[in-house]
Amino acid sequence: MGLVVVGSVALDDIEAPAGSVKSVLGGAASYCSVASSYFVRTQAVGVTGDDFPQEHLDFLASRGIDLAGVTRAQGRTFRWGGRYHASLNQRDTLFTELGVFERFDPVLPPEYLDAEWVFLANIHPRLQLGVLEQVRAPRFSAMDTMNFWIEGSRAELEKTLARVAGLVINDDEARQLTGESNLVRAADAIRALGPTTVIVKRGEHGALLFDEAGVFAAPAFPLREVQDPTGAGDSFAGGFMGSLAAGGSLTPDALRRAVIHWSVLASFCVERFSLDRFRTLTRAEIDERFEQFRRLTRF
Ligand code: AMP
Repeated sequence: MGLVVVGSVALDDIEAPAGSVKSVLGGAASYCSVASSYFVRTQAVGVTGDDFPQEHLDFLASRGIDLAGVTRAQGRTFRWGGRYHASLNQRDTLFTELGVFERFDPVLPPEYLDAEWVFLANIHPRLQLGVLEQVRAPRFSAMDTMNFWIEGSRAELEKTLARVAGLVINDDEARQLTGESNLVRAADAIRALGPTTVIVKRGEHGALLFDEAGVFAAPAFPLREVQDPTGAGDSFAGGFMGSLAAGGSLTPDALRRAVIHWSVLASFCVERFSLDRFRTLTRAEIDERFEQFRRLTRF
């Protein structure tokens, strides 16, 4: 029932109205693995440079994450900088330094190959496909993508989409991928490309799940204080995949429960900079907020 998560492990610089931090732990694989680690044994795949602090690896290992698939290469770790506008809804990318990530070509350790659950965070679709081809018989695989691949690597993206069961994508990218401005029609068009389950992230407005049972809307949890929205989408994916893997079921109910777990994890993520909220977060707090979600939406 293990979950394999593939993606970036990074050092981030973040500027937000609540403050600025430099060279903090980031990366899609870090956020996603830590979020899923609350539910299921998670096997991470990524690459760091030789400048990556051991304390970050120790933190990931302390969450029970298997790091056999995180290799250390000579050179600099992937670095990314972002600045948030006052509303926190918009951010500018200040820089992206690929470093060792430029030559990232994920090779899964033998003990990962029987994983039943696979999440392919935002990397080149050719590499995502390469990972899918290594895993023997996943029960459910899902992927993320971004505008860069939609514009520049469309054919490879479509080939990979044809092989996954789930796509996690933000609203603008769903429109860009399909040419449909209406999100319901965009989701239909994506499902025609392969994935039976499509989750459209809508930032502070939550997410929409489209599957064979119809559509399900999950709100984002209303928070009094948000420090750093970085990684919300990746924590969301971790909560979703972790919840599915732990439950071992792919029924419409299980998918809907997983979307709420996704939203719960994302809501904790943004309360502090980097992955700091996860340093103290407990499973009991997750379960309590899950119950608050019920009250939030029941009428
Ligand atoms: P999110 O806020 O969910 O978009 O995720 C932000 C995280 O993704 C940050 O921690 C970055 O280090 C990482 N990131 C930013 N750009 C990229 C990229 N082009 N490829 C992979 N990871 C990235």
